[in-house]
Amino acid sequence: MAEELNPFKIAQHQLEEAAGIMKLDRQALDILKEPKRTLIMNIPVKMSNGKTQTFTAFRVRYNDALGPAKGGIRFHPQESVDTVKALSAWMTWKCSLAEIPFGGGKGGVICDTKKMNDKDLEALSRAYARAVFKDIGPDVDIPAPDVYTTPQIMAWIMDEYANMVGHNEFGVITGKPVEIWGSEGRMDSTALGGMFVMREAAKMLKLNPKKATIAVQGFGNAGKFAYTLSKKVLGSKVVAISDSEGGVYDPTGLDLDKLEEAKQKTGSVQGYKSKTARKITNEELLELKVDILIPAAIENQVKEDNADRINCKLLLELANGPVTPEATNILFERKILDLPDFLVNSGGVIGSYFEWVQNRTGYYWETERFDAELDKKITTSFKETMAMQKAYADKGEKINPRMAAYIIAIDRVAKAMKVRGWY
Ligand code: NAD
Repeated sequence: MAEELNPFKIAQHQLEEAAGIMKLDRQALDILKEPKRTLIMNIPVKMSNGKTQTFTAFRVRYNDALGPAKGGIRFHPQESVDTVKALSAWMTWKCSLAEIPFGGGKGGVICDTKKMNDKDLEALSRAYARAVFKDIGPDVDIPAPDVYTTPQIMAWIMDEYANMVGHNEFGVITGKPVEIWGSEGRMDSTALGGMFVMREAAKMLKLNPKKATIAVQGFGNAGKFAYTLSKKVLGSKVVAISDSEGGVYDPTGLDLDKLEEAKQKTGSVQGYKSKTARKITNEELLELKVDILIPAAIENQVKEDNADRINCKLLLELANGPVTPEATNILFERKILDLPDFLVNSGGVIGSYFEWVQNRTGYYWETERFDAELDKKITTSFKETMAMQKAYADKGEKINPRMAAYIIAIDRVAKAMKVRGWY
């Protein structure tokens, strides 16, 4: 992997940039530049064809000064230790910014789930649980679903862990099916959190959400819920949406039923039929003149070579890493409010925290409480980020919202490490 695209190098670079601005103690920076521990495992699994296949797997605990590590498990053919390390660093900052009592972690297995049947998937999930058994736990490190891992996989891991400790331990993992006190019904917490941030940012920019036009890249979990919730929560009009095949643009607004129908019949939202709609590419979608742009698909979409043509007032990073570091600076110069991923999509991990709290207390909340507490937490993070940016501006130092959020997150972890006597 080229050095400049190595995600862990990017994570370290962002940390160093923020550390420089906030004049972080060198000793704290040295601790924070590398994970606390990195497990690289070889896991033999007896497959349904009778043959044993060996998988390389990872679990990284980046930092746990603020609480048990928290972060998903990816099952991906291109998984690498550097990706897992980077993601675990970003989880550390995400949990810290959200002010939930977790550190950061992440896990992964190099595998292709599309070539595995359910039996093999279960065998691999249980083998992974046994391999990391001593390194996870409700007070140690709490995994969750991520790319190509599902609530069912969480259930198998929880069950295997319970077998080994000899009792149920629902709080060992989040994103479980509702039948075992999980949050499957709350698959929309990432997008819902993003919509609360959108509401606050629109207020700040004096945009009327009911009149604002929105383009969403991605029609998966994050993108589809961003579409439905922006309408439901804010009454906003989504004029463009896309998937990996491309997008559709209708200045009069899109209709969810027709989008679902197009996706089902043609495999893509591009099959959307309306007199006022037209097909667009993903590149065109990003450059549409809209009030709000929500990248909710994959990383590195807004880059040095298209950042000059982004034509929105507010960019909400619902995906992880959709805007490159160079593009962040260009958007900042152009006075486009680009709100960072680890703020905008933190509703997912905040929802996981609520699941863990409920598992540990044995008392389960109504949806209204879940939503209200999520709103309170993420709105606070947004306001704190804006206040930090302003505090630097008042000192004559211009910093972008990403750096402001980093400074808050790093400061909390550094203070916890200091008071614990780590430096
Ligand atoms: P998903 O797999 O459900 O959906 C991804 C969507 O992106 C699909 O509609 C797919 O067609 C589209 N896509 C894929 N390649 C594309 C391309 N080249 N151009 C345009 N669209 C493309 O994934 P998701 O769960 O919705 O996650 C999307 C992003 O949000 C990821 O960056 C993920 O890390 C981030 N995120 C998701 C959650 C969550 O709770 N789902 C939480 C935090 C962050």
